[in-house]
Amino acid sequence: MRSTLGSPRVLLRRLREVMAEPVSAQERLDKIVVLIAANMVAEVCSVYVLRIDNTLELYATEGLNRDAVHQTVLTAHEGLVGLVASEAASLNLSDAQSHPAFSYRPETGEEIYHSFLGVPILRAGNTLGVLVVQNRAHRTYVEEEVEALQTTAMVLAEMIASGELSALARPGAEPAAHHTQHMVGSVLSDGIALGHVVLHEPRVVINNYIADDIETERKRLEAAIIKLRADLDRMLERGDVAESGEHRDVLEAYRLFADDPGWQRKMHEAVATGLTAEAAVERVQSNTRARMLRSTDPYLRERLHDLDDLGHRLMRQLLGQDHAPSREQLPENAIVVARSMGPAALLDYDRKRLRGLILEEGGPTSHVSIVARALGIPAVGEATNAVGIADPGDAIIVDGTSGSIYIRPTTEVQNAYSERVRFRARRRAQYRALRDRPCATKDGEPIDLMINAGLTIDLPHIEDTGCTGVGLFRTEMQFMVGHTLPRTAEQLALYRAVLDAAGRRPVTFRTLDIGGDKALPYLETIAEENPALGWRAIRLGLDRPGLLRSQVRALLRAASGRSVRIMFPMISAVEEFDQAKGVIERELTHLRQHGYALPERVDIGTMVEVPALLYQMDELLQRVDFLSVGSNDLFQFLYAVDRGNAKVADRFDTLSAPVLRALRAIVTAAKVHNKPVSLCGEMASHPLEALALIAIGYRALSLSPTSHGPVKALILDLDLGKAETLMAPLLEAPSGSVSIRDKLRAFAEAEGLPL
Ligand code: PEP
Ligand code: MG
Repeated sequence: MRSTLGSPRVLLRRLREVMAEPVSAQERLDKIVVLIAANMVAEVCSVYVLRIDNTLELYATEGLNRDAVHQTVLTAHEGLVGLVASEAASLNLSDAQSHPAFSYRPETGEEIYHSFLGVPILRAGNTLGVLVVQNRAHRTYVEEEVEALQTTAMVLAEMIASGELSALARPGAEPAAHHTQHMVGSVLSDGIALGHVVLHEPRVVINNYIADDIETERKRLEAAIIKLRADLDRMLERGDVAESGEHRDVLEAYRLFADDPGWQRKMHEAVATGLTAEAAVERVQSNTRARMLRSTDPYLRERLHDLDDLGHRLMRQLLGQDHAPSREQLPENAIVVARSMGPAALLDYDRKRLRGLILEEGGPTSHVSIVARALGIPAVGEATNAVGIADPGDAIIVDGTSGSIYIRPTTEVQNAYSERVRFRARRRAQYRALRDRPCATKDGEPIDLMINAGLTIDLPHIEDTGCTGVGLFRTEMQFMVGHTLPRTAEQLALYRAVLDAAGRRPVTFRTLDIGGDKALPYLETIAEENPALGWRAIRLGLDRPGLLRSQVRALLRAASGRSVRIMFPMISAVEEFDQAKGVIERELTHLRQHGYALPERVDIGTMVEVPALLYQMDELLQRVDFLSVGSNDLFQFLYAVDRGNAKVADRFDTLSAPVLRALRAIVTAAKVHNKPVSLCGEMASHPLEALALIAIGYRALSLSPTSHGPVKALILDLDLGKAETLMAPLLEAPSGSVSIRDKLRAFAEAEGLPL
């Protein structure tokens, strides 16, 4: 069928005029539907807007009963309009009434129209509404008409996103675009922050959608694509892909897209409808994004990111913006929203202005999460399409206690959260006031409270908390945040800085705990069925002694003239400890022979993380200078629950008799051999768990710096004698007969202990 379409260019010109007219939002919409209907020779043109209650409201119509405007409301899946919205795809029908999804609304008077063309109003892949034209005659709209209507929908998308239509809405029925959004992701780092959105990779802002001259735009697009392809080729040839943080296979995927004739054709078609080159790129990107967002295929969703990046590159090319805006333009209270991010990129942000982090990807063990925790900023991951929903400068709340994210929150939510932030700040001030009080229970038993650390950004916490030392320095952190293996000089510098910051307080360095889930991107790894039980930690260290040797050498040199404590991760058998200790002894000999000043004292110990050690305690304790219990791994292996798998990680309680009996056996054996023992797993960072540990005999705990205050506050108020009397029979009671957690909580409440 021949198109009856008027020139799309003329339509766009007229639309531009209407957009600039100083009329009310309703008048503007009314004029737009009249214009479209006339241009497309359609009897009906209607605009439906998606509301916050997930329904579609008729906002303007030419041709349907005008009384239905703001009266007709469809559920998001109702009828053909609902189908267009939920699928985010155009629907072109010559006989609408025979379509199974057709639903009839008498108030609109639409039963006399047979043909139907609906297009989604999209922005960054999100549906904001639906634009529809209808004709009496049975007619199939040609490709050109579908294109023209999609182009017009882009202009409407900008109008809806600007918030102009909110004035027309009833309270509670506002347009979903630019309205408050609540989503729940996974907790990566604790804390709460209110602030403003900063997109890590800012969207390119298009100011001019409508072309003055199509031929000029066609040439601009062509030139930009050629330049983009040449750039990609050059990057691939230069081989410096690692330096720019991109991996070769990603670039290969980009080039596949860039060479794809379908992608280029679609953009050229969009230009032919009268859009500027950059608007054409955005439209194709938005359509593809909408399609891919609905895909359940993880491979396709992954490719969406590649396509986004490519589209951004192309738009920057067209707008002459080579780089993201400078970091100096960062607002106060910046909450960075990113698809994914490396740890170094987060450290690039101005620490004084950075308040929080939201990622579409990234789990709690990802390196960037580790850095977020070290920086003490809340972070939430798995926030689906956050980058598409949040606009730069929007108000936003990130709640790292529950995983909630509020984009453009209501005043009530903002007030409630401001109150929570103030409360938390008051609590922190109370903890600071305890800083210089010696840490002992109310009945006088001293407890050694140390902190866990791993990066230089952790070091100020030693002074801030008033801790008695660093009970666990995770040396692998330095290896995990970098792009390459840290050189010996860099390791040496870090270890010196740690010992300097600690002064006379003891520091326990743990040798590299990599492998398993802690993979280093630059180190070749082998695929393993069960990485947690695989080639990791000390196993890797003993098989690749070069790495362990150079680390031990750096540690010993850093400690020259001072004391140092070194321990090994994941020791499973005493022979392993002997071998590892041998590495330290050989390095000491080597340094002595080469005239280096040696440490004043070296204590050598081990983590207790593997249950097999529980059955060789006597042999082990004869060999070690100290023990440190890694309850995270010990718990995972005792109950056989993957600590990183949310489905099972919470299945068993750390405060259960089997775990506490095992922990008590360790501390009791250590006492018999008169060897110091501490506990440095997550468990020690929770006040109730810390209470249990002290009650079963632990006198030294190493915890995350943020937990130091709450745990110390509890200890100062604790009557240890009473706690011991409570705990002893609970551990003897038949397993499962009583909830130790409930009993402890009731005790804490009765004693008025702060939890
Ligand atoms: C542990 O396993 O408890 C521990 C402290 O080590 P990591 O959490 O680094 O494995
Ligand atoms: Mg461990």
